Amino acid sequence: MIPFSDLATQYRLLKEELEPAVLSVLESGQYVLGGEVISFEQDFARFVQARYAVAVNSGTSALHVALLAAGVKPGDEVITVPFTFVATTAAIRYAGATPRFVDVDPGTLTMNPEQLARSITTKTKAVIPVHLYGQPADLDPILDIAHAHQLTVIEDACQAHGARYKGKAVGSIGDFGCFSFYPGKNLGACGEGGLVTTRHEEADHKLRMLRDWGAARKYHHEYLGFNYRMDGIQGAALRVKLRHLESWNKRRSELAARYDVGLNNLGLGHVERAAYGNHVYHLYVIRVRERDRLQSRLQEAGIQTGIHYPVPVHLQPWASALGYRLGQFPIAEEAAATVLSLPLYPEMPDGHVDEVAAVLRRLATEQQRLPLEGHVAGH
Ligand SMILES: *Cc1c(COP(=O)(O)O)cnc(C)c1O
Repeated sequence: MIPFSDLATQYRLLKEELEPAVLSVLESGQYVLGGEVISFEQDFARFVQARYAVAVNSGTSALHVALLAAGVKPGDEVITVPFTFVATTAAIRYAGATPRFVDVDPGTLTMNPEQLARSITTKTKAVIPVHLYGQPADLDPILDIAHAHQLTVIEDACQAHGARYKGKAVGSIGDFGCFSFYPGKNLGACGEGGLVTTRHEEADHKLRMLRDWGAARKYHHEYLGFNYRMDGIQGAALRVKLRHLESWNKRRSELAARYDVGLNNLGLGHVERAAYGNHVYHLYVIRVRERDRLQSRLQEAGIQTGIHYPVPVHLQPWASALGYRLGQFPIAEEAAATVLSLPLYPEMPDGHVDEVAAVLRRLATEQQRLPLEGHVAGH
């Protein structure tokens, strides 16, 4: 069997570094926030060259408190894309604001800046581009439009730790950057975790209060805050893993390049790679018309795949109150019907990539041939 990812192997390889770090937290008695979390915030801020970094308990919490620190409130509108993990949009609702969608670019599947320009109203307060699959959204035109309308830019960098846009690390470019350390992300905790970066000193103070019950001084609650604190064990584990992130991202790129070669000439659709950015391959995604049939055939051949994401957010049942209909975001809808994520994780052996490629080649050429054409963005 070729697994989609393999966190247990990563643990075995890191055991010698990880266990003393985690045990030292158990010894210290500092189980929530504490020294390891503070050190992790400093390490991560340095890694992405962000001025401030505030650790929280998930990427979703990061998005929620970033929106609140930006002053987003009920009645405001926040623009994002419908083709993302649900948390991006859910956080906007948690802040009491109204999500407004703009469709994605047909090549990169990230926010289409022209549509953004056309969707701004007097109520728009913020915009959340998503760095999907590890590839930065096209930030320059988004920032230009946002600045012209005094909008806050919150980067959803939950899939893009270490990715760069025109040489700068994502999360250091907009007003805020939100990261998730869910175990399967490029940088994953041994449980849940998240972090917000910001360039604004006041926002840093507010973020620190919001994650810990809205209080700077214990039991004096300036804001209606939350219990969004990071655990000491996660801080310690993340500090260890952060030291490996660059080499893991490099390995992901090597594996992606190996897939590119192995899948060449099969007529598969791809997600375009933009010249402006460095992709960190959180996911390696192909696009095919008969996606569900292909996924079953791969499963039969012992190859696990994923679909990120099968239903765009505007068509999720809970989001029906937002009033969107099928057909309104055709690029996102087509992406949801055609994307397929192949196995990819830093510890994956080269031979597994070759095997996946060989099976896809066989499916494309055998008698009962499975048409693999995805009309989109072939490379
Ligand atoms: C994972 C993810 C989130 C949410 O992060 P959690 O840590 O799971 O709360 C938000 N946005 C995107 C794009 C993600 O991939």
